[in-house]
Amino acid sequence: MSTKSPIKRAVSESLFATAKNFFPGGVNSPVRAFKSVGGIPLFIKKGDGARIWDEDDNEFIDFCCSWGPLILGHNNPHVYNSIVSTLQNGASFGAPTRKENDLAKFILDRIPFIDKMRFVSSGTEAVMSAIRLARGYTGKTKIVKFDGCYHGHVDALLVNAGSGLVTFGTSSSAGVPEVLANETLVLPLNDLEALRTCLENYHHDIACIIIEPVPANNGLLLQDGVFLNQLRELCTEYKVLLIFDEVISGFRVSFGGAAELYGIQPDIVTYGKIIGGGLPVGAYGAKKEIMAFVSPDGPVYQAGTLSGNPVAMAAGLAQLEVCAQEDFYAKQEAKTKFMVSQLNEHANAHNYPVEIVSIGSIFWFSFNGHKKIQAASQINPDMSKFNELHHFLLNEGVYFGPSGYEVGFISEAHQVSDLEFAIEKIKLGFVAIYGGN
Ligand SMILES: *Cc1c(COP(=O)(O)O)cnc(C)c1O
Repeated sequence: MSTKSPIKRAVSESLFATAKNFFPGGVNSPVRAFKSVGGIPLFIKKGDGARIWDEDDNEFIDFCCSWGPLILGHNNPHVYNSIVSTLQNGASFGAPTRKENDLAKFILDRIPFIDKMRFVSSGTEAVMSAIRLARGYTGKTKIVKFDGCYHGHVDALLVNAGSGLVTFGTSSSAGVPEVLANETLVLPLNDLEALRTCLENYHHDIACIIIEPVPANNGLLLQDGVFLNQLRELCTEYKVLLIFDEVISGFRVSFGGAAELYGIQPDIVTYGKIIGGGLPVGAYGAKKEIMAFVSPDGPVYQAGTLSGNPVAMAAGLAQLEVCAQEDFYAKQEAKTKFMVSQLNEHANAHNYPVEIVSIGSIFWFSFNGHKKIQAASQINPDMSKFNELHHFLLNEGVYFGPSGYEVGFISEAHQVSDLEFAIEKIKLGFVAIYGGN
């Protein structure tokens, strides 16, 4: 076991104490508060490539990557220069700019199933707008989501499943009216029977089904291709729109996201995270018949003061230009497999009941023995081992998002030597949490 002394935290502690006077829980987004792993959050001062430094000058290899947006790591020079040169002309105009065309063309040229898109400023906003569009287009009101998928903090999607296969949602957040939650049906993931039953009984009322085709916000619940294909077919058969929420998987598991990876075309797609190159951008897109319903062409209202912000467009375009290079995704996947397979072999050899699940450059520590986990209900709710591992690794210079339900990301900036460093530390972490050597 490592005998390293804990890292310094005095400056982060002091900043957090101040922040608690300003923000609920001291943070501007709840998972940052370290509530699930315990302890206080580290205040980050700087990032460069695969590394971040906190205010106490501790250095970490970063596997959080701002929760996904930074597929090129921190301060990639191409993204950085694009931001700076655009900013020299001003930050925002509230009028059309060339940059919006440039980013849209770059995306639409490469993603064949969407004809038109609309930029917004976050993943939540993209999903909220997509749901409104689906309702406006179909004239129906109910929506279907899957237990274990996260779609941002949209009212109608902050719902829990009841008990049973097909259930009407109950709100999972105070402030979401039950009448609204009841318009959402919640299904278990990867369950064709529940899906069929739901559509047979309610298709006349259902506007859309929304899914994270790579569910990566509540563990990494990889779905069977058969399930996703059937979902597509059933939506077509029952005239229900299929929304792929690719805020996390878009431009991550391939340029065209899970839709490209699985060869499935959703009716509406939502993007976020990577699309903004580290600045706040979201988007939704669809065929032109559907997008014709969006204002000012159509009756579905949706707007945004900072939508299509030129600096954010410049960051997104620069990042996507790198992502679109040949073999980019194959390289990220190979690096991820390099780390994941070594850790899994090690865990297997020592009979540690942990497995690292991965797809593309996303990975997740599954503390579920070696079972294949595809539904929210199968996740081991005891995250104590992850929490111990998280604390151990912070002291060793390896930074993961502070919750066992969150995935990790490998960026273009991670070098094999960074991964080798992390592998060694994680192996030591396994010894720390499971004993042995
Ligand atoms: C992150 C995420 C969202 C929410 O995006 P924000 O930019 O945080 O509002 C929605 N859906 C999925 C699948 C996400 O991963």
